[in-house]
Amino acid sequence: MGLLERGEASAAELHAAYLEAIAARDGELHCYLRTVAEPNGAGIPIALKDVISTKAIETTAGSKILAGYVPVFDSTVAARCKAAGLSILGKTNTDEFAMGSSTENSAYGPTHNPWDPERVPGGSGGGSAAAVTAGLAPWALGSDTGGSIKQPSALCGNVGLRPTYGTVSRYGIVAFASSLDQIGPVARNVRDCALLYSLIAGRDECDSTTVELPEPVRLPEREDLRGIRIGVPKEMNEAEGIEPGVADAVARTIDLARELGAEVGECELPRSVDYGLACYYLIAPAEASSNLARYDGVRYGLRVGAEGYYEMVERSRDAGFGDEPKRRIMLGTYALSAGYYEAFYGQAQKVRTVIAREHAAAFERFDVLVSPTSPTVAFKLGEKAANPLAMYLSDLLTIPSCMAGLPGLNVPCGLSEGLPVGLQLIGPQFSENSLFAAGHALERALGFDPVPERLRS
Ligand code: GLN
Repeated sequence: MGLLERGEASAAELHAAYLEAIAARDGELHCYLRTVAEPNGAGIPIALKDVISTKAIETTAGSKILAGYVPVFDSTVAARCKAAGLSILGKTNTDEFAMGSSTENSAYGPTHNPWDPERVPGGSGGGSAAAVTAGLAPWALGSDTGGSIKQPSALCGNVGLRPTYGTVSRYGIVAFASSLDQIGPVARNVRDCALLYSLIAGRDECDSTTVELPEPVRLPEREDLRGIRIGVPKEMNEAEGIEPGVADAVARTIDLARELGAEVGECELPRSVDYGLACYYLIAPAEASSNLARYDGVRYGLRVGAEGYYEMVERSRDAGFGDEPKRRIMLGTYALSAGYYEAFYGQAQKVRTVIAREHAAAFERFDVLVSPTSPTVAFKLGEKAANPLAMYLSDLLTIPSCMAGLPGLNVPCGLSEGLPVGLQLIGPQFSENSLFAAGHALERALGFDPVPERLRS
């Protein structure tokens, strides 16, 4: 990025250089669904997950039902990127409607992990995460409903922030589960991540759930952790299914945090871990079933011809949606139907409150909570694709804090079997500055090289 500041390259040259790299190397990885040929800003290029509406650039959310849909307006985050001078490089691959944990649910084929192309990059924002790690974008935006920024960042070995709910506008985002969806930055290091967050965050009059940040974003500088109280939730660090190599890397990082001056103590989040996933898989599909009702063959993208209106809607939805959105529409419609609403959706909302309270209690004693971001390192393509429940478990540790509306940062903390392990840092609402500060100090001390071994030359 220094190149621009030092006047050694123009924005147009940078944009062109990235496009060249994409043309040469994205055939193997498939991070991008489409690129933008012309430089469109005077600053650094950026890649946007394809759930982010971009004026005059096709936006499909990884779904066939939106094929050919070209928004006539910019989402607020795209507009803010443009206002900051960023040049949109292209739209990145995603699980269809951001439903998934491996990018294998994309209707346009999977993305591959730059550390090992036989493995998944995580999901749903695998395209953005893999692009940043492979050097095919300096930074990117993703969206996170239950882990889709944090988990792919963990599996690709970069830094991803899921911001506090309400700090980044959802206006112009293809909606999945509106009470959970958040847009956030993906970058190679914590400082870049903080800088990008500062460009997109803040109140937007087009999204009534947004608020002004209580304090400006501070780029982290300190390299120690003195005065920071770090909580280690027992259940999140000892959960069944956490690979030993992942647990070891995280435990070593917790020791390092102590050496850097942090006060480290144990805490508990028992209900959040026990019920988080089940609660999420009621609330997210319920909201998705309502949000996805708008794809009727009339207003956007795909329309399959038929005799009458109802047949047209039915055929368009049948042809346009893949298996995962269909599964969630059915689950969600069932959970919301008369007679079941209280037992499922109503009950899940109560559990959600319990999860939020449990986190609030932990934050009375600690500033930051840590755990692995993903229980496993990147898994092989196809390994979990046929088993939705195994796939859902990928988000066991990212989901609870999302349910509570809290921010979470992934920072790479080492390798296991030659693949990156991600550390998840969770804070109270609006604590992004503390997460950046802690993440930055750890990042400096860890010295993790974010370039995959096979791409170092
Ligand atoms: N993997 C989770 C799901 O499939 C989370 C996805 C997301 O955060 N968009 O719903």
